[in-house]
Amino acid sequence: MPAHSNLYPTKDLQARDAAHHIHPFTDTGALSREGSRIITHAEGVWLTDSDGNRYLDGMAGLWCSQVGHGRKEIVEAVHAQMSELDYYNTFFKTTHPPAIELAEKLAELTPPQFNRVFFVGSGSEANDTVFRMVRTYWDLMGEGERKVIIGRWNGYHGSTLAGTSLGGMKAMHSQGDLPVPGVHHIAQPYWFGEGGDMSPDEFGLWAARELERAIEEIGPEKVGAFIAEPVQGAGGVIIPPDTYWPEISRIVKKYNILLVADEVICGFGRLGTWFGSEYYGIEPDLMPIAKGLSSGYLPIGGVMVSDRVANAFIERGGEFFHGYTYSGHPACCAAAIANLEIMQREKLVERVASDIGPYLQAKWKALAEHPLVGEARMVGLVGALELVPAKGDRRKAFAPVGEVGTLCRDISFNNGLVMRAVRDSMIISPPLVLSHDEADILVERTQKTLDDTYQALK
Ligand code: PLP
Repeated sequence: MPAHSNLYPTKDLQARDAAHHIHPFTDTGALSREGSRIITHAEGVWLTDSDGNRYLDGMAGLWCSQVGHGRKEIVEAVHAQMSELDYYNTFFKTTHPPAIELAEKLAELTPPQFNRVFFVGSGSEANDTVFRMVRTYWDLMGEGERKVIIGRWNGYHGSTLAGTSLGGMKAMHSQGDLPVPGVHHIAQPYWFGEGGDMSPDEFGLWAARELERAIEEIGPEKVGAFIAEPVQGAGGVIIPPDTYWPEISRIVKKYNILLVADEVICGFGRLGTWFGSEYYGIEPDLMPIAKGLSSGYLPIGGVMVSDRVANAFIERGGEFFHGYTYSGHPACCAAAIANLEIMQREKLVERVASDIGPYLQAKWKALAEHPLVGEARMVGLVGALELVPAKGDRRKAFAPVGEVGTLCRDISFNNGLVMRAVRDSMIISPPLVLSHDEADILVERTQKTLDDTYQALK
């Protein structure tokens, strides 16, 4: 019997799950009534559930499986590392070979201002580290009043207290009285949803200048950093207008504030460049990374620290009282090294830029013709479809927001494709190893899902 065969009836597994497991981002009551979806096996871009159904993993797990599932090379690298040194920490001036090798590799792969990494276990921990590092940096620079970090409404930076606070998800803020003090949010560059009568370029400038307005209002001497994802992922794959990032770069330079590019989704080839910052020509001072760093094989993240920030710590800092038991875990570093080696050997980033990226984009953008679709957008291998009630008035939203998206997502599952719904936008972010045939299947299943949803709404 293959290792992935399911030994238990799905209903039994669901009952045991509901009895003992509180899931992230899940309505626990609904889960107890409806049961969970149980994934038992994955290979390449394909998932299998406990009933043997197969799905195309259009979300690369949670935007993380760059090299696809089931790569033996990574499994073997982890096995070898665990046999040699299962665990040791990186606190108190200690380290081990995999942490050294991965740090060096990251310094090579990231833009030139980055020569150092602070290891963490996840994207959320990376942003908690950012929060403390920004404030510590300004303390060291003798400008400790620069406490405020500006983020964006509908940005996502994780689920811990700092991550939730820096993010701009109002539903998350409403649980736990967040954000913490010292965080301010500005408008997002979401032209389709919020651009009104402005052209995308006008709106991009307007949204960027919200940063300048906020800095002036708060007081430039009090602002420490601006944090943003190059392309917002969890907010709905919001691809900013071309005018946005150049204007943001001008503003952060003018006020000398730190720029934090959250690369947890955009990093490691998602946009067809190693990092989203390179795609947009921006020069961040700090860069949180996770997800694609190990393709999700084991949990690992980091904060890339530019020379500007690192030098302050080296020249003026004492101990940085911050770190995690699993910062630079040897097995996780080994998984990340093997993953990056596969990405380099198989030229996955180049593939997204000049092969599978343009191939899927052309087919995806053609879905804009569907009567349910107001906009089809994609950059690299991450895209969204905006579902709308009336093609003639294509930027009008459904009311209430979100129901049609959820319906469409469920239909998509039944059609063998994992897409995610954010409001009424349908999101995909497939593994970077997606073949042309698999891209065709992805688009056929999306087309069928749109047709079925359209019929269901009649
Ligand atoms: N930052 C961004 C841009 C993300 O998309 C995410 C997760 O989706 C995070 C941070 C948080 O990462 P994690 O879930 O690994 O804590």
